Amino acid sequence: MLAPKIGFISLGCPKALVDSELILTELRTNGYEIVPSYQDADMVVVNTCGFIDSAKKESLDTIGEALHENGKVIVTGCMGANATDITDIHPSVLDVSGPHAYAQVLGAVQEHLPYKAPYNPHLDLVPPQGIKLTPRHYAYLKISEGCNHRCSFCIIPSMRGDLVSRPANEVVAEAEGLVKSGVNELLVISQDTSAYGVDTKYRTTFHKGQPVRTKMIDLCHALGDIGGEQSPWVRLHYVYPYPHVDDIIPLMAEDKILPYLDIPFQHGSPKVLKAMKRPGAIHNTLNRIKTWREICPDITIRSTFIVGFPGETDDDFKQLLEFIDEAQLDRVGAFTYSPVEGAPANALEGHVPDELKEQRLAEFMGLQAKISTDKLSKKVGKTIDVIIDEVDGEGAVARSKADAPEIDGLVYINGETEHSVGDIISVTVHASDEHDLWANS
Ligand code: SF4
Repeated sequence: MLAPKIGFISLGCPKALVDSELILTELRTNGYEIVPSYQDADMVVVNTCGFIDSAKKESLDTIGEALHENGKVIVTGCMGANATDITDIHPSVLDVSGPHAYAQVLGAVQEHLPYKAPYNPHLDLVPPQGIKLTPRHYAYLKISEGCNHRCSFCIIPSMRGDLVSRPANEVVAEAEGLVKSGVNELLVISQDTSAYGVDTKYRTTFHKGQPVRTKMIDLCHALGDIGGEQSPWVRLHYVYPYPHVDDIIPLMAEDKILPYLDIPFQHGSPKVLKAMKRPGAIHNTLNRIKTWREICPDITIRSTFIVGFPGETDDDFKQLLEFIDEAQLDRVGAFTYSPVEGAPANALEGHVPDELKEQRLAEFMGLQAKISTDKLSKKVGKTIDVIIDEVDGEGAVARSKADAPEIDGLVYINGETEHSVGDIISVTVHASDEHDLWANS
């Protein structure tokens, strides 16, 4: 019997992408073939995103399209946490599961499209690193699921539950497998990277006979040791601003992990932060940023902010501008507040009119653009390491240690055609703008 063919659509954030990769790996391990079109597929799996209303709409539209084009559809992912949101609109889907339900997805596929793969002692259909949807030279490494916080604008805990950390030895073994298969950059992700292991009481695990605690600092040490001389870049994402984050800055100064901290501060007004149910001691945060830079002068701090949160006054917004002006963050993403169905913040008083939100966002981004332009101009003349993402006949596109894929800037190297994707090389910066750098090799 020929292997059944599965079409797979992955929507949403990098965390959903990791789920997709794990499901695809499971399907391939069980002999199913993955195909790129509705017409060639015997069944379609849609991994949905339910974070904001526009993502839900995209998920529902995609399911509708898959039903229309193929007819046999299994739905999984964040939006599947509330199955009726999907079945009310698309009652003919075959199965609905929530996020990280790898076994349920496989079970549903096997129920509706049974297949027993011929015995293959080498399982050589599955590459050692699993199926990657990201380019081969970088990979996302998911260390936990869920979150113990209850930020008032967020529904992730209600969709994904409380924090569940993967054992440290399992994470390190996966990272080693990725590096062996050619990955040069590991992007550590979770909902809350700095809480890693708190649910396990920082349980000690053993990797190759050595103890590794299920704790962020121990994991950073272990990941930083992978590969010896040729160690991969290790980049931390979604770090909640707990005090113990300070402990990993020396590892960044030693270059054991990348001097890059993606730490969402969300606002600069203690009152708004309180309403968000986030740490509100903003002066303390500014002092910590100063100390981090003293310990690790090359650190890149990336953060995200919400503008126009319910109750945000002109004065709160002014405090936000003062915060980013003083913090001089390297990379900043900002969004206007948009109500997410089921989020407690929707019930707060003082919703900010849309026009004012947009006005404030433009002012915020204008200030940050000046900060970013100024910071990047100081890199001109410096020699920096970059990882190459693309090469064509005219040159290469790369990223520096300060740039995470997809969200930060790029380094353009005209005429660099000798190296390959994934190579890490030194270049000298000769120009900059608000986001990107230009360099010579
Ligand atoms: S820490 Fe992040 S995932 Fe957790 S509740 Fe807050 S915003 Fe949501």
